[in-house]
Amino acid sequence: MPQFDMMIVDAEDVAGMEVATHVAGQPLKEGGGDETYRCGICKTKLMVDVAHHDAHGAIIKCGKCGRINIDPPHDHHH
Ligand SMILES: [Zn+2]
Repeated sequence: MPQFDMMIVDAEDVAGMEVATHVAGQPLKEGGGDETYRCGICKTKLMVDVAHHDAHGAIIKCGKCGRINIDPPHDHHH
């Protein structure tokens, strides 16, 4: 099960884009795949066991630390 830390950006960087809001204590999305995505700052699991395409282009505001996470660059091909 691959696990990734997401990339942190500033709110201005995603201005005008759709930002999903994560709620602390539960993943924003769970199931459908085998990849887990964590907040790049506090390591909270934002998406658990999701499919790769679920994370593509994802912009998630962490419910714990409030930072904006985006889909990290991947070092594998798909
Ligand atoms: Zn966080």
